[in-house]
Amino acid sequence: MQREAHLNNAALFARREAAIARGVGHSHQIFIDRAENAEIWDVEGRRYIDFAGGIAVLNTGHCNPVITQAVKAQLDRFSHTCFQVLAYESYVELAERLNAKAPGDCAKKTLLVTTGAEAVENAVKIARAHTGRPGVISFSGGFHGRTLMTMGLTGKVVPYKAGFGPFPGDVFHARFPNALHGVSLQDAIDSLESIFKNDIEPSRVAAIIIEPVQGEGGFNVAPAALLQHLRALCNQHGIVFIADEIQTGAGRTGKWFAIEHSGVAPDLITMAKSMAGGYPIAAVVGRADIMDAPNPGGLGGTYAGNPLACAAALAVMEVFEKENLLQRAEDLGQRLTQSLQALAQRLDCVAEVRGLGAMVAMELCQGRDPHRPDANLTKAVCAEAAKRGLILLSCGTYGNVIRILVPLTASDALLDEGLAIIAASLEAALAA
Ligand code: PMP
Repeated sequence: MQREAHLNNAALFARREAAIARGVGHSHQIFIDRAENAEIWDVEGRRYIDFAGGIAVLNTGHCNPVITQAVKAQLDRFSHTCFQVLAYESYVELAERLNAKAPGDCAKKTLLVTTGAEAVENAVKIARAHTGRPGVISFSGGFHGRTLMTMGLTGKVVPYKAGFGPFPGDVFHARFPNALHGVSLQDAIDSLESIFKNDIEPSRVAAIIIEPVQGEGGFNVAPAALLQHLRALCNQHGIVFIADEIQTGAGRTGKWFAIEHSGVAPDLITMAKSMAGGYPIAAVVGRADIMDAPNPGGLGGTYAGNPLACAAALAVMEVFEKENLLQRAEDLGQRLTQSLQALAQRLDCVAEVRGLGAMVAMELCQGRDPHRPDANLTKAVCAEAAKRGLILLSCGTYGNVIRILVPLTASDALLDEGLAIIAASLEAALAA
């Protein structure tokens, strides 16, 4: 009897509610038993297709055998020393590989940490140490993490900031362009000028941080012209240009870093998530002269650059090369986009299908009217899809965007199966 209750999603969810802080949200009331590539089986034996990828972590799929093998081999040697105490080659090799991949001709250096928010925190610290300035500019709708500084940078109040202030000072938000919602490229550029006029002089700004494609914000793609403008602005005023590639990085968009599509080389890049296929590691990669600004001891962390996660990250790069996953991201993205666009033509609740490479989303609004974002329909579609065996995630300022972060290693047949469930779920939710 007790064992049966243990294997039941509802009973486990009741225990979760009793034992875990309410602030840890949940998308689905499903407890996983095991997973393989782009499929999951829950504790009741039900099978799901995974279009969420652990929120952009599983570009190389669940339990990728190459990654699992690399981690097992490392586990047999040692699992922790703290890199600042006793060094190991894999940290150095990973840094070398990331330095070589980062865009721009100058010398690069890398810092490894554990989470995305920690990478962003450190990028800001490095920019401040380099410039001796306090200010940071980020963008509306952006997401950079849940720690105090990254929460301050984040441009969405509910649920990320509400009740958690005061936030760090000298953080300002420019407008992220969004054609569907009436924010033009020029509006974005003007908003930067307004910040320099109204809030802080450019000579006191240490960094501008932007996601090349907003993740939590709704898969809004930053126009290349904006990234080029930011590059010029940063050059003009000695500001450090940080690209937050925590969601876009590790090949999701068809290039290792999404900013490569624009031809712009930022000064610093933050990455995490899919760089190690499910093992906790994050990085700041950038211009060596900037990366070297903080004094020894100013950067690091007990678990930063954990050896198991370093082994996983190196294995992820191996899988990308062997399986040509950058090309796969392009092809998979086209397949997803075509299928969602066909849906948009049939159903007037789909206001837009957008994305870059395999980072694809659709925005749901009543009658395609951007002023009537349909968060309820979005929730209903995700719930209906789960009932039909597909794990979906929503995002967006208005909670009305369905995003797809399926492993790049998923087969076309599995993609098509998942896409058919999206179409059926949308129709069922509309009919309800
Ligand atoms: N930046 C971006 C762009 C992200 O998408 C996220 C996570 N969703 C973060 C930062 C924070 O990463 P973490 O949750 O690992 O702290």
